[in-house]
Amino acid sequence: MILKKYIGIDIGGTAVKAGLVDENGEVLSRCETEIDRSAMKETVMETVTRSIREICDTNGTDIGSLAGIGVAAPGAINTREGKVAKLGGNVPNWSGTKVCEILDGEFGLPVSLANDGNCVALAEAWIGAARGHADVLCVVLGTGVGGGIISRGKLIEGAMGYAGEIGHVMVHAGGRKCSCGGRGCFEKYAATSALVKEGMALRDNWYTGRHIFGDANAGDEEALGLVDRWTDEVAYGIASLTHIFNPEVILIGGGVSAQEELVIKPVGRKIKELIIPDFAEKLVIKRAELGNDAGMVGAVRHLILEKE
Ligand SMILES: [Zn+2]
Repeated sequence: MILKKYIGIDIGGTAVKAGLVDENGEVLSRCETEIDRSAMKETVMETVTRSIREICDTNGTDIGSLAGIGVAAPGAINTREGKVAKLGGNVPNWSGTKVCEILDGEFGLPVSLANDGNCVALAEAWIGAARGHADVLCVVLGTGVGGGIISRGKLIEGAMGYAGEIGHVMVHAGGRKCSCGGRGCFEKYAATSALVKEGMALRDNWYTGRHIFGDANAGDEEALGLVDRWTDEVAYGIASLTHIFNPEVILIGGGVSAQEELVIKPVGRKIKELIIPDFAEKLVIKRAELGNDAGMVGAVRHLILEKE
């Protein structure tokens, strides 16, 4: 039997990732193309269309034989209209881009567009760490905090597709200013960048998470204290979300999720201490599995669920 093939696209602040993905979620081939941040030579959508042609050429795949294109992108994504809303994330000239219309005009294939954090949740529930689970909360810790919520097997998208912006849940009323225009948002305290910002205020060489975790793993008391305060913040936000969504699995993704002893275990323990005991009964908290492929695989899953 010949499996259907899709293109999964994951647009980030610095690069476009493209993958040839089959109907079972297996990535058959992938490529990564840098974004022209000045947008002088090429717009982001031109980079996307070029990546699609390139990955098809490399694999000898006829574009017309594909079953569709799924796109994951940062910012507030209007999935109903297939376009980026006003809050465009960290991609140059991105606000308002009509992604589905452009790709449909270029290739004439079914296209879907969804928020990248939501796509990570879909991918992990499809073939990753939350496979087989119907109630999943996925939290991705990076420059910001992204994620997605799957309830009774369905991604919660809300009226327009904006749902799941967990980085902007307010955890400290009147707190730190956020890029969204608000104050006290979860990501200002729980993003990896928040940890690094605090780290740099303490020591010159703590300008990346890797340096901080390196010292913490070596037993440095100050680094351990810094990481401990930061995992408190991560747990506060997730505990609140747990009370709203009652997940059975909470996945933590992003580069820091590789830190099993310093991040996953303490965050899991702290969440369970913070929540109402009934919510903790069958709750599993673990790291996400799919890493760099999650966005493109989840984008394909979004397309399959939306169009088929
Ligand atoms: Zn915010």
